[in-house]
Amino acid sequence: KIRTRIAPSPTGFLHLGTARTALFSWAFARHFGGDFILRIEDTDEARSTQEAVDQIIAAMKWLDLGYDEGPFYQMQRLDRYREVIASMLEAGTAYHCYCTPAELDEMREAQRARGDKPRYDGRWRPEPGKVLPPVPEGVPPVIRFRNPIDGDVTWDDLVKGPITISNRELDDLVIARPSSVPGQVGTPTYNFCVVVDDLDMQITHVIRGDDHVNNTPRQINILRALGAELPVYGHTPMILGPDGEKLSKRHGAVSVLQYEEGGYLPAAMINYLSRLGWSHGDDEVYSREQLVSWFDGTHLAKSAAQWDAAKLNWVNGQYIKATPDADLAPLVAAQFARRGIAAKADDHLARVCGLFKDRCATTVELADWAQMYFADVSPSAEDLATHVTDAVKPALATLADKLATVEWSKAAIAAAIKETLAAHSLKMPVLAHAARVLVCGRAQTPSLDAVLELFDKESAMKRLRAF
Ligand code: GLU
Repeated sequence: KIRTRIAPSPTGFLHLGTARTALFSWAFARHFGGDFILRIEDTDEARSTQEAVDQIIAAMKWLDLGYDEGPFYQMQRLDRYREVIASMLEAGTAYHCYCTPAELDEMREAQRARGDKPRYDGRWRPEPGKVLPPVPEGVPPVIRFRNPIDGDVTWDDLVKGPITISNRELDDLVIARPSSVPGQVGTPTYNFCVVVDDLDMQITHVIRGDDHVNNTPRQINILRALGAELPVYGHTPMILGPDGEKLSKRHGAVSVLQYEEGGYLPAAMINYLSRLGWSHGDDEVYSREQLVSWFDGTHLAKSAAQWDAAKLNWVNGQYIKATPDADLAPLVAAQFARRGIAAKADDHLARVCGLFKDRCATTVELADWAQMYFADVSPSAEDLATHVTDAVKPALATLADKLATVEWSKAAIAAAIKETLAAHSLKMPVLAHAARVLVCGRAQTPSLDAVLELFDKESAMKRLRAF
């Protein structure tokens, strides 16, 4: 059974890049009817926070990336890691190293001076017939993995194809830090915890960012030492900002939940994110179900994807257009709540959404339009001067009077407008622009009768008379 995971470190919000990796892992598992697992990599105690964990889970929930198991927390698995380390010491695939930091510095210094790449020289590595130095007093040891000296590590990367790294490039990785308690195993290191987790959680496919590609040969060697079957690895290229640098705060919002606030629909985010580093022909807009049915681990791009805010806006606009009015209403009400405007997500707000949704890229823009129905408008001095001229004011008064008497419907409003135009020999745009500036606060809107119909009669008339 296919099993994938996302393993965020809770040192901040869920980054777009991690969300994209989560999406790929999720879609891959769903495609094959497998399991998707959430693992919180919280061994960096100084930087991990519960708040970040909550944010990550909230963002996964918003994107509707459901996980079948977890969240698992590495900090709750320390005993298990220590158990594996003990078995490796026993088997001779790991060993104690008593080098002090000063000694290691000296070692690297000397290597650099010789023009060599700094690396651990193996002085505590047991070899047949080798006499190890005497164990120094009072130096808590680290535990190192006994990496093979010869041969290569090769894996067939799901994204990048075959990769080969020579074992000569890899030194003996520290898998546990020194412990303050003599005779005890210290805190296991990141690369080691990942290996034990992927093994215990029976992960079959590790899909992650290619910033981890250097960890993979080390992790493979440890898995082999444990006699484990290897998962398939897939390293997806980074997402870049428009300037070609790794996508970061400098380029704008990189936290998934900021996009909720910014008026994006989770389905549109999923759609857009899935296109960063993966494609299905020329398809741009497709459902989650289609994505899952297509996402079989092929067509993953080898080159980095570039974040394109304009394209995201376009995709989001397509989703807004396709979303039923009644489903947009609560989203717009939520945007209003952020502005301190109270509005119920009722049938009226749904109709308002229906009137404007075709012209909006986000629900923030939709709320900008809808706001005229729920809060005062303040036309600009320029619009007032240009459109609400002395020539048109008598006609505005006539229109208000006529509207006062009609049964409130789009047809009746249209008739009142027509009669007003005839009575004052005016052209439609002249009256309509003036009425819009007063009622809507701006000169350009959908057709006047449609816009007016969604106001209650009293407030529409009051605004028309407000010149
Ligand atoms: N915790 C790592 C990160 O947040 C992920 C490691 C992995 O997927 O193996 O980048």
